Amino acid sequence: MQHYFGTIADDHAIIDGKQIHHLINVRRGTVGEKIEVSDGTDAFLCVIEGLDPLSIKVLNKIEEKRELDVDLTLAFGVLKGDHNDLIVLKGTELGVAKFIPFTCARTVVVPTEEEDNRIKRLRKKAEEGAMQCRREVVPTVTGYQKFEDVLAAPADLKIFAYEDMWTCSENLLSLAPNIKKHSHILVVIGPEGGFSKEEARLALDYDFEFVSLGKRILRAETAAIYAASIIGAIAEGDIS
Ligand code: SAH
Repeated sequence: MQHYFGTIADDHAIIDGKQIHHLINVRRGTVGEKIEVSDGTDAFLCVIEGLDPLSIKVLNKIEEKRELDVDLTLAFGVLKGDHNDLIVLKGTELGVAKFIPFTCARTVVVPTEEEDNRIKRLRKKAEEGAMQCRREVVPTVTGYQKFEDVLAAPADLKIFAYEDMWTCSENLLSLAPNIKKHSHILVVIGPEGGFSKEEARLALDYDFEFVSLGKRILRAETAAIYAASIIGAIAEGDIS
């Protein structure tokens, strides 16, 4: 379908002279042909009603689907400095529905009263990111949670990114067949210092799939963005 840019007035679309020339003379548009007209914010399905003069009738707004077909929760060990912002901002662009910052054995920054401002800032980042990439919903950023509570959270598929086991962990991509439409996926990424052995053992008790994110040890924020990208790419594909 041909796509044009213009303005929408009542139930008609108006396009400029150059585009009219393109539609009539170059593409040889015909009466009854459907075209798409975007006003810069929304796209509309239209039909060519007449050519002389050109009349384009709006049929309906095209509801663009911008959310992933899976409900993706990204839980990450709270990091120092601005790295949390990066996870939320980029994760939002990649389609994460919910962020859970958590504390665990190797948490470096201990969330204090004043840290509540940090959560507020993260929520702001989610809002900014959602607007920038035109998400339909602003992802949720929960308050700080304890690692054990994150493990106990229900999900259809629980993924634990564990760097110490990369030699025997499955690559994240190998979980593709387990990623089903409308399922809830929880991914857990450790803080700067990673997870302790005890924490990893505990995750096994909670039915986590242990995955490798490649042969290199990634920084926590890179690991979070990598995991969200891979799951997003699988979910944008042809999943059932
Ligand atoms: N303990 C590490 C660094 C941890 S990286 C060290 O200092 O050597 C922070 C987190 O990113 C990890 O806990 C893990 O969840 C994730 N991560 C980074 N690289 C990874 C990899 N190659 N495979 C799986 N998870 C990885």
